Amino acid sequence: MKADANRERRAVLCRELAALRCGAAVLTRSEDCFYYTGYTGEDAVVLVAARSGKTWLLTDPRYREEAERSARDCEVVMWKGSPASHAGGILRKLRVKSVGITANHMTVQFLSTLQTAAPAVGTPEDVSPLISRQRAVKSAGEIRAMREALACAETSFRTARARWKTGMTEADVKNDLEWEMRRNGASGTAFDTIVASGANASLPHAHAGKRKVAAGKMLLIDFGARLGHCNSDLTRTLWPGDIPPVWKKRYAAVLAAQLAAIAAIGPGVHGADVHRLAVDVFSKTGLAGYFTHGLGHGVGLVVHEDPRLSPSWDKPLAPGHIVTVEPGVYFPGSGGIRTEDMVLVTAKGREVLSSLGKDLDSMVI
Ligand code: ZN
Ligand code: ZN
Repeated sequence: MKADANRERRAVLCRELAALRCGAAVLTRSEDCFYYTGYTGEDAVVLVAARSGKTWLLTDPRYREEAERSARDCEVVMWKGSPASHAGGILRKLRVKSVGITANHMTVQFLSTLQTAAPAVGTPEDVSPLISRQRAVKSAGEIRAMREALACAETSFRTARARWKTGMTEADVKNDLEWEMRRNGASGTAFDTIVASGANASLPHAHAGKRKVAAGKMLLIDFGARLGHCNSDLTRTLWPGDIPPVWKKRYAAVLAAQLAAIAAIGPGVHGADVHRLAVDVFSKTGLAGYFTHGLGHGVGLVVHEDPRLSPSWDKPLAPGHIVTVEPGVYFPGSGGIRTEDMVLVTAKGREVLSSLGKDLDSMVI
């Protein structure tokens, strides 16, 4: 990401901080540090002064060179004492009286040290909601990077699935897919890849193990590539051999729920309403009770971020949001089905970013 993009993001943050009467923000989450400065390393704290826009990146000598290369227009400082006490010292010099923090990330210990070092700072302001809101809206450059992370996952899945056969274990399939994603440029996986065969697929977050891929038993694969700091997130439920009729019906319901939800996505539409549409489709076939999680979530620098397509997200979608749409039904003891795609909210509606086939015939391996 170019330094200009980081500067523009910080300018937005500074305006928001000023509106909250915060003199500065102290950011501890590594994705936020990357977002606002371009810093690609770990173990850093970013301090942004609201009025001047001046930005400090505090880290330790292991990351000095990387920090100086990647966070180009920030003052890179090797912290003394601890990152919290050093940041507190800067706040004291700036005479900051109110500071913005990410309360869903900063530890109690960090905050207490920060307050000890800068006693004039009172109760901090939680700026995590405004940062989540800003990060949720992707720029053209970010959308391009997200497409690349998605293309890596899809190409890898298409190539690897030709190798999957009955008798392989879930762990074999998982290792094979992850290897293929790395071969295609991924720096890692977006999350621990889920490969679940048969009864194991009734667990929405199943762990891949020694269970074998077997004819007539579904093979649920939820996976994503991490590429250039962006994540992708997709699910397909494959079928080795014949598909039992009861599962054909359930698969059709999952697909119908997903297509109805996708068709409703657009700017101004509330996440909760999109979720409800999927529930309505499941209700028609008596399956609503088996759909046990939220319909989707934002994806970006982290794999689960705002916005959400869930009953509690009564807020509108906006152009630049990228969300997953992942209805599923789960039957303890016998299995489960989920289909997940990634969708970009556009000015006029939506664009489905992922392109893996999902009609029932293309699920058979
Ligand atoms: Zn997923
Ligand atoms: Zn997901």
